[in-house]
Amino acid sequence: MDGRNIIEINNLDVNLMSVRGIVHAVSGVNMKVKKGEVHGVVGESGCGKSVSAKSILKLHDPERTEYSGEILLDTEEGPLDILKMNNRHLTNMKGKYVSMIFQDPMTSLNPIMKAGEQIAEVVRIKKNLKKKEAKKYVLDIFDKVGILPPEKRYNQYPFEMSGGMLQRVMIAMALSCEVKLIIADEPTTALDVTIQAQILELMKKFQKESNTSIIFITHNLGVVAEICNSVSVMYAGRVVESGNVVDIFDNPAHPYTKALLESRPSSSDTGKKMKTIAGAPPALYRKFIGCPFEARCEYAMDLCKVKIPCETAVKEEHTVACHLYKKGD
Ligand code: SF4
Repeated sequence: MDGRNIIEINNLDVNLMSVRGIVHAVSGVNMKVKKGEVHGVVGESGCGKSVSAKSILKLHDPERTEYSGEILLDTEEGPLDILKMNNRHLTNMKGKYVSMIFQDPMTSLNPIMKAGEQIAEVVRIKKNLKKKEAKKYVLDIFDKVGILPPEKRYNQYPFEMSGGMLQRVMIAMALSCEVKLIIADEPTTALDVTIQAQILELMKKFQKESNTSIIFITHNLGVVAEICNSVSVMYAGRVVESGNVVDIFDNPAHPYTKALLESRPSSSDTGKKMKTIAGAPPALYRKFIGCPFEARCEYAMDLCKVKIPCETAVKEEHTVACHLYKKGD
């Protein structure tokens, strides 16, 4: 593992057992996140973004999930494979190295516990603080993330707070243990545009101050451009393109990335019909023999029906999985 990366995912497969059969939710995913960078994961709903991210904390039901590949986390003891950790080791690692901000804070927080106490409880265990010290620590964080007035908010229950305030509580919780990596799973999707902008500003500010790495999952390319340094584009459980944000936005290589970028609304297109990507993502109950995007791709050729494209480097740190770029095939 490269010492500059906080996390490195190699050839990750995640299969979920459902009543309708096995869902091949993630297949052959490779992803590297550098220390101190914000890495975006973007794609349509059901493309494997959240499943990949939740795998980093092994949050899927162990009875119904099969993992293969490796997820290497850079720790004080050197790189450790999360998929090989036992439960005790994994619990220690959560809150020390990695924490997660979920899309819907209302269902992520305990509804019958005061917001401040939920964080103080974690801080007391992870930082070995006394009750009073933990409360003071939480009040300081509340102040920093704009949960005001801190003392009043500390004693409120989740149902007494707005969506934006609850998301700030989730951010405060993620920041409270000073982890090395935060996984933010669509943290602004449920918020209105003004609050969304405030939360993004807040995350940018804290990322800069603490140099924490962030994996930012979103389907919003505007958010990627706003906050991310690098990005992985996912489709049908696979990473189809990856690179720094400037390369992906200025010179997208994969037909799916190009189509996503062309589907963005633009103020210069007022009155014109918005571009969309025809068709829908495929169901993931079967393994693919060809390119999963073939049915929707305007460049598809015979080879695309029978061979899955491999990852190919189009330039340093910019890869694409498409038969139009044949070097790696
Ligand atoms: Fe399109 Fe073929 Fe490339 Fe898939 S491999 S994106 S079908 S050109």
